[in-house]
Amino acid sequence: MTTAAATRTRAGWEMLASALRPEGRALIDGELRHARSGRTFDTISPIDGRVIAAVARCEAADVDDAVAAARASFEAGIWRHVEPLQRKRVLLRFAELIRADLERLALLETLDVGKPIQDSLTSDVPSTATCIAYYAEFADKLYDEIAPTGPKDLALIRREPLGVIAAIVPWNYPLVIAAWKLGPALLAGNSVVLKPAEQSPLGAIRLGELALQAGIPPGVVNIVPGYGEEAGQALALHADVDMVTFTGSTQVGKLMLRYAGDSNLKRVALELGGKSPQIVLRDADLQAAASDIAWAIFYNQGESCNAGSRLICDAGIKNELLAEVKRVAATITLGHPLDPATKMGALIDAGHMQRVLGYIDTGIAEGAELALGGRQTMRESGGYYLEATILDKVQPAARVAREEIFGPVLAVTEARDEAEALRLANDSIFGLAAAVWTRDMDAAHRVSNALRAGTVWINTYFKSAMTTPFGGFKQSGFGRDRSPHAIEKYTDLKTIWTTFR
Ligand code: NAD
Repeated sequence: MTTAAATRTRAGWEMLASALRPEGRALIDGELRHARSGRTFDTISPIDGRVIAAVARCEAADVDDAVAAARASFEAGIWRHVEPLQRKRVLLRFAELIRADLERLALLETLDVGKPIQDSLTSDVPSTATCIAYYAEFADKLYDEIAPTGPKDLALIRREPLGVIAAIVPWNYPLVIAAWKLGPALLAGNSVVLKPAEQSPLGAIRLGELALQAGIPPGVVNIVPGYGEEAGQALALHADVDMVTFTGSTQVGKLMLRYAGDSNLKRVALELGGKSPQIVLRDADLQAAASDIAWAIFYNQGESCNAGSRLICDAGIKNELLAEVKRVAATITLGHPLDPATKMGALIDAGHMQRVLGYIDTGIAEGAELALGGRQTMRESGGYYLEATILDKVQPAARVAREEIFGPVLAVTEARDEAEALRLANDSIFGLAAAVWTRDMDAAHRVSNALRAGTVWINTYFKSAMTTPFGGFKQSGFGRDRSPHAIEKYTDLKTIWTTFR
């Protein structure tokens, strides 16, 4: 991070923000364009409810243009047939440009979604660049295969790009998740049409500009901001899109499968919602556990698909653990997202905040006890801030124990023993992540083997790297982001068989 970014105060960030003129046009075929209809929508900052920019409201006609540009660039081979070393250089330059644009991208991300500027600076933007650089490195290191055959035959098994990839992404980690799609899709030689969430289009448009600046040819990366039911649906139903890679809610994920079936059977990869359990057994190190448990639910205001939103705790230690978690929660400063001291910012919009508040009320009506928070705060800001909240004595059948709230709300349920804890943990339609806290390594491995989740942490939470796959079991989706495994889903296998005479 530059010294300027590291030392900038809230007033300094606010000054930068007031001078910022974010680009709101779509990026199609290498050009910044207004929507064909000329229509725009306002992107509102959850920090204070103010309009940040007018953004192109892309619809089916714009999606047609973007898909046509992606198809033309793919067929022309201007990206997929570029020498591997050169493709790597261009992608590494893209990563470098993201790093060099740290302050602007971090500011756009924080203004768009209300997350703390410090998180955007130290996590979101650097992780975005790291992801692109990680996949760039594969360009000249991946080999194809030769199948075992008879002596007069040669069967090559090649991985080929799919063609046109539609990437539809959510608003909670807009840059990072866009990079999780762009990195492996581009590395494999595909052309991409990216549709950011309507709540968070600005970082994606900037990413598109940087891709172009890095030397990715026009038409290979297209950005179509717009609403889900307009731009998103047109893209997912498009007959000339070869694959849709989607991150978002389970509800919309199900629509993606329908759209594929109703159109051209495009491939679908889904990263969906979660209700991830954290099991704490009787012998756990409660001090260590409490810190990670609190961050697991309150980081990013609880707007993480893999947030540890269910605490399933041995009844014998619950009171002690809860006191510790509350102590840690009190240190997670809720405040103005542009203040560098802030650790928890604003929820994405007024509707979402009301939804989360509604869940808290439902939880209490269903018999839970409010152990912390539960209220809207900082109303005078015009933004959407909610206290870190803990609901204790949550019954396993309660809605707050079963449905994804996607806010800073921890549901605490007691378990008699390991077996009951495991049963409660797995009793969910979701299977994105899970954790177990214990000093007994036998129990740790027993439980982690039995948990039905894409990631299981033992005595930690949220630890991750580009090297490990990310994704879910059950209704949390299928297909994986990150790691070499992500590349597979953007390619198809082709066998080329030769017989010698
Ligand atoms: P969402 O499903 O409402 O929207 C996601 C994207 O889909 C947006 O771009 C939206 O415009 C688009 N969309 C909405 N309706 C559509 C439709 N009918 N047709 C086509 N596109 C449509 O999700 P959200 O509210 O933006 O994000 C929150 C959700 O994302 C949570 O459920 C969270 O768990 C999930 N998420 C999952 C992961 C993961 O990797 N598993 C990561 C982050 C977020």
